[in-house]
Amino acid sequence: MIIPKAPKLTDAQLKEITRVVEDFGCNIQVIEGAVQSIYAIVGDERHELMINRIEGLDYIDRVDTIQSPHKLLDIRSELKNHQVEFGGIKLGKDLLFIAGPCTIDPKNPNFFYETAEALKEAGAHALRGGVWKPRTNPYSYQGDGKALEILMEGSRRTGLPVNTEVMDEMHLRLAVETGVDMLQIGTRNALNYSLLKEIGKEIAGRETVVLLKRGRHMGPVNEFISAAEYLVTFGNPNVVLCPRGTLPGLEGYRNHPDESITPLLKEKTWAPVVVDPSHAVGRAAYVEACCMSSVAYGADGLCVEAHLEPSKGLGDDPKQAVTPEAFKKLFEKCQAIWGLRN
Ligand code: PEP
Ligand code: MN
Repeated sequence: MIIPKAPKLTDAQLKEITRVVEDFGCNIQVIEGAVQSIYAIVGDERHELMINRIEGLDYIDRVDTIQSPHKLLDIRSELKNHQVEFGGIKLGKDLLFIAGPCTIDPKNPNFFYETAEALKEAGAHALRGGVWKPRTNPYSYQGDGKALEILMEGSRRTGLPVNTEVMDEMHLRLAVETGVDMLQIGTRNALNYSLLKEIGKEIAGRETVVLLKRGRHMGPVNEFISAAEYLVTFGNPNVVLCPRGTLPGLEGYRNHPDESITPLLKEKTWAPVVVDPSHAVGRAAYVEACCMSSVAYGADGLCVEAHLEPSKGLGDDPKQAVTPEAFKKLFEKCQAIWGLRN
């Protein structure tokens, strides 16, 4: 829908915009209003270049598009009935719980194995465990490829599928070859479109699920959904959107909790939403509340950092990991809220 600055276009201006849209296989339908005329684009109005060319004309106020820019993830797309499944859970039908340490300690594999067993006992459907870590400081522990074997051994021992973050193509290939079930794209890479495309290509034809965290710098939810659209364009639609907090705005919280965007995402896309409360609030003491609020907002699942002995963990664990005992409590409370929703 093209809205001119003046109440209506002159004949010459109408001719000019008609020529632009015809280059993209579209036509113009004039809708004459008593005060303001508007000009509908008939055809596929999603061509970014077409919109830019029209918005570049000095007599045009703006172009408002009705069609969604994300064709596959749109709530009205043909994929709207696609069922994402993970850890034996059909997302949307039951609440999914992923839990595990921020970082797997390759020197103490038993921490991971024992944490994994305890979390399974407490109700977790899948495990998370960081092998390669995106650290703000180059001198902090950066992860270690050896932890990949520990992650997979934890999966064999518990029978639970596993999630780990990949930050580049080497991680991606190794993780997929080794059989990692869910690839995590962290907040820092959520806008790395070349990596998103590589991941989309690598998972095509496989069962692999991708959990895309919301970028710390992302604004409107369309930006988040469009990043996820990159992943599904190659044929595997198993994508999960993960709000994890945006840039810090509240003193005391690590990031600004953003589980409240869940209903906005659900209005626009069929993709499941699995919230990460741990990186949002950054403190173990606040994780349970954020989990419950996420479920109340309509989340399909949670991805929680948990460790048998948080104080002995690496990375984020000493601050924000919950114990398996605390996980069990929040699991039960969240299930009760889920029960109220259904
Ligand atoms: C993590 O999951 O440990 C992590 C680093 O996540 P994020 O990308 O959300 O910071
Ligand atoms: Mn972490």
